[in-house]
Amino acid sequence: MNRVGTGWDVHRLEEGRDLILGGVRIDGPKGCVGHSDGDALIHAVIDSLLGACGLDDIGTLFPDNDPRYRGIDSVLLLEKVVELVRSKGFRIVNVDTTVILQSPKLGPYKAQMRERMAKVLSLPVECFDVKAKTAEHMLGELGAADAVVCQSVCLLERQ
Ligand code: MG
Repeated sequence: MNRVGTGWDVHRLEEGRDLILGGVRIDGPKGCVGHSDGDALIHAVIDSLLGACGLDDIGTLFPDNDPRYRGIDSVLLLEKVVELVRSKGFRIVNVDTTVILQSPKLGPYKAQMRERMAKVLSLPVECFDVKAKTAEHMLGELGAADAVVCQSVCLLERQ
């Protein structure tokens, strides 16, 4: 039996913060505001995996008022979710993602992001895609590079 899941996340961007997406540090003047390291791509991937398993959402699993998750590397959260997915008897088939970020351009980082995420999910790199889009300078904060939005769709197969 196959299951699909979708995930979506948005984070505000501010100067003086690190921008980390897909476990990769992106050079730029602004970074994500968040309780964890603010990795919106990983958060979207986590929600897609949880959704496919019928396991609620990231905010329920890792509450943003829990001091254990303050500043945490989101890769660690994703690793926990991968274990959870496997414990429910599912295998991850592929994950397809979109990052909407006005700037900086993600082109130079996409391969590294895919490799990092594929490794964490134990997938061949062609089974984790990252599509980078801008907001064409529209959509308020997104087009002003004051926010990042990430989307994820995953397919799971019951072992
Ligand atoms: Mg988030």
